[in-house]
Amino acid sequence: MANKKNTTPGTISKIQELRKQEISTDTLTKGIFEGNKALLAKAITLLESTNPVHFEKANAVIEKCLTQPNSSIRLGITGVPGVGKSSFIEALGTLLTSKGKKVAVLAVDPTSSLSKGSILGDKTRMQSLSKDPNAFIRPSPSGSSLGGVAQKTRESIILCEAAGYDVILVETVGVGQSEIAVHSMVDFFLLLKLSGAGDELQGIKRGIMEMADAIAINKADGDNLQRAQLAATEFSRALHLYPPKANGWTPKVLKCSATEHKGIQEIWDMIVDFVVQNQKNGHFIKNRQLQNRNWFFQTVDEQIKQFFHQKESFNKAQKKMLKAIDENKISPFYAAKLLLEDITKEL
Ligand code: GDP
Repeated sequence: MANKKNTTPGTISKIQELRKQEISTDTLTKGIFEGNKALLAKAITLLESTNPVHFEKANAVIEKCLTQPNSSIRLGITGVPGVGKSSFIEALGTLLTSKGKKVAVLAVDPTSSLSKGSILGDKTRMQSLSKDPNAFIRPSPSGSSLGGVAQKTRESIILCEAAGYDVILVETVGVGQSEIAVHSMVDFFLLLKLSGAGDELQGIKRGIMEMADAIAINKADGDNLQRAQLAATEFSRALHLYPPKANGWTPKVLKCSATEHKGIQEIWDMIVDFVVQNQKNGHFIKNRQLQNRNWFFQTVDEQIKQFFHQKESFNKAQKKMLKAIDENKISPFYAAKLLLEDITKEL
C-alpha cells in the first residue's frame, strides 16, 4: 500500500490515517466492551466523522453496543460560563470515582465549530478527573448544526455505557437551544446558578426552570453563604409556581461549593433518590423510551426534508411556486399542497 518512493509527511499521515481506519468493527466493539479508552475514543471519532464509510462502521459498533445491558445514570448539567460547571464536574466526578464508579464527561457546545475547539469537556478544566483511570472526558463534537452535534453526543452516550461507565455527565453552556437538546438525552437535568444581588430570577432563560430537576446554587462559600441561602429560597419559591412533573418529582434547590467540595454528596444523594423513585414508578424507562422515540421522529423529519431538498425536480417546482406566490397568483398554502402532490407522484 505504501509507496516507498513517495513518503512525504503528507503521504505518511495518509498512511497512518488508512491504518487507523483498518481497525475492524469487531476490534472496536470488543475494545469498548473491555473498557479500552483508546478504542472508545476511536469509535467516537468515527461516529463524529462526516465520511460515509466511517458512519456505516460507527453504526455497526453502536448497534452492537446497544445490546449491552447497562444501569447508567445520564446527568445533564447546564449553567452560564463561570458558574462553575467544570469545577462541579471535577468535584462530583472525583467523588463518584472514589466510590468505585466509572464516570464519562461529554459536552454539547454548538459554538465549538466557531471557536475552533470546544470550551466544554476540556481536560485542562478538570485536572484531577482527566488523570483518573475511571474517568473518560471527551470535548464537544464540532458541527454546523446543533442537531448534528447533539446527535453525536447522544450516540457517544451509548458507546460510553457499553464501555461500562456508570454515570454519564453531559454539560452544556446553554447557547441557543442546546439545553433542550441535552435535556432530551439525560435522565436528570441539573441547573447550576450563582447567587446575585437578589434578582436571581431575572435573566433566567424561559423554559429552563421547567426543564430543571434541580437547581444547585454554586459558590455557596465564604462571604457568599448568606446570599446563596437567599437565592435558594427565591428559586424554591419560583419552582413551586410550576405545575408538578408527570413523574411525580418535585424539583429541588440545593447549595454547593464545587471548589470546597461541599454539598456535592447531598446533590448526588438527591439524584440517586430521583432515579430510585423513577425506577419504581416506571418513569425512568418510560422517559428513555420517549426520548428515543423523539430522536427517531426528529431524524426521520430531517431526512425527509433532506431527501426532497436534494432533488432537482423539487427545487425547480419550488421555484415555480415561489414565483406564482410572489405574483399573488396562488396562496402559499395551496402552493405547498400542489407542490407536494406533484413531487410525491414521482416516488
Ligand atoms: P464554568 O465556566 O462554568 O466551567 O466555570 P469554572 O468551573 O471554570 O469556574 C469559574 C471560576 O469560578 C473559577 O475561577 C473557579 O475556581 C470558580 N469557582 C467554581 N466553583 C466555585 C465555588 O464553588 N466557589 C468559589 N468560591 N469559586 C468557584
